[in-house]
Amino acid sequence: MTSYTAPTKDMQFVLHEVLNVTQSGVPGYDDLEPDFTQAVLEEAGKISSELLEPLNRVGDTEGCKLENGVVRTPTGFKAAFDQMREGGWTALDCDPAYGGQGMPYVLNTAVGEIFVSANMAFNMYQGLTHGAYSAIHAHGTDAQKALFLPKMVSCEWSGTMNLTEPHCGTDLGLLRTKAEPQPDGTYKITGQKIFISAGDQDLTDNVIHLVLARITGAPAGIKGISLFIVPKIALNDDGSLGAPNGVSVGMLEEKMGIHGNATCVMNFDGAAGTLLGQENKGMRAMFTMMNEARLWVGLQGYAEAEAAYQNAVIYARERLQGRAVTGAQNPDGPADPLIVHPDIRRSLMDQKSFVEGARALVLWGASLIDRGHLMGDKDAEGLISLITPVIKGFLTDRGFDMTVQAQQVFGGHGYIEETGMSQFVRDARITMIYEGANGVQALDLVGRKLAQDGGKHVLAFFEMVKDFIKDNKENAALATDFLDPLKAASKDLQAAGMYFMQNGMTNPDAALSGSYDFMHLFGHTVLGLMWTHMAKAAQAALDAGSEDADFYEAKLTTGRYYMARQLPMTATHLARIQSGADPVMALPADWF
Ligand SMILES: Cc1cc2nc3c(=O)[nH]c(=O)nc-3n(C[C@H](O)[C@H](O)[C@H](O)COP(=O)(O)OP(=O)(O)OC[C@H]3O[C@@H](n4cnc5c(N)ncnc54)[C@H](O)[C@@H]3O)c2cc1C
Repeated sequence: MTSYTAPTKDMQFVLHEVLNVTQSGVPGYDDLEPDFTQAVLEEAGKISSELLEPLNRVGDTEGCKLENGVVRTPTGFKAAFDQMREGGWTALDCDPAYGGQGMPYVLNTAVGEIFVSANMAFNMYQGLTHGAYSAIHAHGTDAQKALFLPKMVSCEWSGTMNLTEPHCGTDLGLLRTKAEPQPDGTYKITGQKIFISAGDQDLTDNVIHLVLARITGAPAGIKGISLFIVPKIALNDDGSLGAPNGVSVGMLEEKMGIHGNATCVMNFDGAAGTLLGQENKGMRAMFTMMNEARLWVGLQGYAEAEAAYQNAVIYARERLQGRAVTGAQNPDGPADPLIVHPDIRRSLMDQKSFVEGARALVLWGASLIDRGHLMGDKDAEGLISLITPVIKGFLTDRGFDMTVQAQQVFGGHGYIEETGMSQFVRDARITMIYEGANGVQALDLVGRKLAQDGGKHVLAFFEMVKDFIKDNKENAALATDFLDPLKAASKDLQAAGMYFMQNGMTNPDAALSGSYDFMHLFGHTVLGLMWTHMAKAAQAALDAGSEDADFYEAKLTTGRYYMARQLPMTATHLARIQSGADPVMALPADWF
């Protein structure tokens, strides 16, 4: 059996000692006093350990069932969902005009990590609703907002995103779902969507589907796609529930993990929908939901790794196997615990240093989103746009790897379902695929984001790293262990960017053969930056005579590990990038 304890202390450290939220000048952040965030995180942690985590296994073993056209979620999900709604957890950062609590996104993100670690499949019902809420909030008319948002904020109604069709996943320009204009200004939506997360369930009274479709006569390809709001149950003029709306679940997918979340084939048979945003500008509106979802999926990647890591540590302390090479550590016992062995330590340090760095990155990313939304800070918007594919792709790749490492600590017992370690691996695997498979995130990074606004944002990132190194060069605690490796990684990243600039136009294959490595090179560099910031904060606390010296010493030690053992990967990624297209593309396709 697994267990989970929310890492509230580490979250508090990032919020208050690294990001210094209350002093950052972002509107609403002055409410985030340490006592307040501590109380919120602790309460979220309590619900997670007592309510959500025990249901994680239930969701995995029972899965969802389709009965008479209605999806039944696993035992206990409905009661837990009601408890979450009634506790206001679904409305934390939503607009008070629609019943939300108006908290900053950064706090919602920290709380979200706790809920995802405890039960990712369960959290997805709420997560997708939040994404649909954001899209309607950003692009809806006043009437649409008034009609849908209050019930979505309270999660009385849930939300979904419907992009994928059987013949079109990454290449959405191929999509065929039709939208026929009606005299009353609505549209009849007809088509089939597949793999729709939380497509139906028995947790809410209605499901509000956001559906990409092509209006009759619209241009072919991506330029002819519009976005529609299509409720499962039609609404009467006064907003009350009316008749079923031609939306049905064709089947539930059998899948590798996240069994507690219903992945549905959705059939739309002339279902009534209203346009969200402008005609043929559906991708723009959908991107509001997708960008939020990409950050959230990156969060899922490391949140699963955190939960798996916690269990690996417990096991490594308890399981007795072999003796320490330097002499028995448990001489009265038959053997020493696994944690004495250097290779087990290596694995635990990989996991710990990744998860803590990833947490800092995602909370920093969430604070950039707040700056964009609440202050109109265009530089922050540019930066988060640049690093979103890195957060999604790198954190989910590494997050999955870390769940495998945690499973490995259990040896054969990790492969046996009883310990629950296999579920972390199976659940984490989807994060590398949905919301744009990671290869496509790398394409987005190299093909679009690097050159966005004339390369302004990537140059600003390089400047930010350079300035930080310069400003801290007198800090002896950082110089050798942190600043030097960060400088080397940043140089590798710049050299890779230069390689793409020099070769990408003449030979696009050269850029795209290196795109995946570039995403990882960037990921390591930005995690190196996070670790250097955290080391600075930890050293400052130690210098100030903190009573919690163990926590800060552990921070510095873990940071040194990342800089010494993970950051050198940037050189390998650069070498692979600079080898160009030939090694990748030389073999003719029919020789495979
Ligand atoms: C459990 C689950 C839940 C999901 N939830 C949702 C949901 O809620 N809503 C929704 O709309 N969809 C959902 N999806 C669909 C998911 O987003 C897609 O599966 C994903 O975007 C990839 O599309 P595809 O499966 O068609 O793969 P394809 O597009 O066929 O891609 C196959 C592989 O080729 C790569 N590839 C594709 N094009 C290129 C290219 N130009 N260059 C290089 N590589 C390329 C991809 O990276 C991928 O590895 C879900 C899927 C699953 C399995």
